[in-house]
Amino acid sequence: MEKVLLVRYTEIHLKGLNRPYFERALVDNMKRALHEFSPRIEREHGRIYVRNIAEEHMDEAADRLTRVFGIHSLSHAVAVDKDWETVVSAAAELMEKRLEGVSSATFKVLARRSDKHYFMNSDEINRELGGRMLEKFPQLSVDVHKPEIKLSVEVRDMAYIYCDEIPGSAGMPTGTAGKATLLISGGIDSPVAGYMMAKRGLTLSAVHFYSYPYTSERARDKVVELTQLVSRYAGEVRLYLVPFTEIQMTIYEKCPEKETTVLMRRLMMRIAERFARQEGALALITGESLGQVASQTLEALVCTNDAVTLPVFRPLIGFDKDEIMDVARRIGTYETSILPYEDCCTVFVPKHPVTKPKLDDLRTSEALVDWTEMIERAVEKTELMTIK
Ligand code: ATP
Ligand code: MG
Repeated sequence: MEKVLLVRYTEIHLKGLNRPYFERALVDNMKRALHEFSPRIEREHGRIYVRNIAEEHMDEAADRLTRVFGIHSLSHAVAVDKDWETVVSAAAELMEKRLEGVSSATFKVLARRSDKHYFMNSDEINRELGGRMLEKFPQLSVDVHKPEIKLSVEVRDMAYIYCDEIPGSAGMPTGTAGKATLLISGGIDSPVAGYMMAKRGLTLSAVHFYSYPYTSERARDKVVELTQLVSRYAGEVRLYLVPFTEIQMTIYEKCPEKETTVLMRRLMMRIAERFARQEGALALITGESLGQVASQTLEALVCTNDAVTLPVFRPLIGFDKDEIMDVARRIGTYETSILPYEDCCTVFVPKHPVTKPKLDDLRTSEALVDWTEMIERAVEKTELMTIK
């Protein structure tokens, strides 16, 4: 009896003639996620089978696959010869395990048959196998509408039998939608924004601005850790760490205090856009949400966008903070995000920030300083890390 992971995938089926491209990308991403387990991955009729994984690595392999975008769900299945008595005894063995410590449960058998020459059709398999299970396990009863246990049998080259279904992360395979650059802070929002866009198939690079000594080494480590957590889903992420102190101090010295936050955003966007172009990225991503803070009003966002020409994706724009926090908890970034290290935006917060900045005013304030050389210096001292 062979143990396999049976993987069902999502929206890819919508992609018409491009379908093989999406499927290949998904299989490649799965291989990458599982590489040290030397899996054999086979694709067939809308399913992917992961074989050859040592028993002791099965749970870890399944767990990793739940973070590969494009996977709808997966199951620990056993693959056996299609001989009927073999199927029945494999099903009984699975059921026995499933019923350990359970005094009563409802179930149904769900058969699928892609081997149309098999001697029973799906209905017959459902009835026959259901009957055999009822005989063997008196604690079972049938419920076809809301069964507690779904015993699935797929008859293909072999018979695949399983009774659990683990949800995947859904979305599109990372890398199939091009590249974008995430502005990542140490907060709750930007890692979630990166996760959401990677889920739509984007490969990410990331840019973080730090203002040493106003922000600490630990604040920087936190961002590296957050990027690592995002890369568990998004695959490899190239992270640019940009020293921002000189620019930030100059903003505070030379520009109107109430405009400092939006000016800072504009300069961050400019520098991020440089690295984006270097990476071949076609968009920027931020964790902004409409109205969340003064720098995220519609007027402020217009002023921020004006600094760059690449499109800016803000996947959280219509989310409440609670909703963002729910996603952060689910994807495992929340606990790190709330560690209490200062971010460069929180170091100097103006007392009365403009909430409806005027674009002309901001452009005028920004033109009080020639930023060119400062930007060059920041870019030159930027450190690049590859996060896997
Ligand atoms: P977050 O939780 O992502 O920090 P926030 O609600 O704290 O968001 P702001 O601090 O105003 O909001 O930042 C808005 C967005 O600007 C962030 O989501 C992020 O994309 C970007 N950003 C802010 N600070 C930095 C930084 N130090 N480096 C890179 N990007 C940043
Ligand atoms: Mg922040």
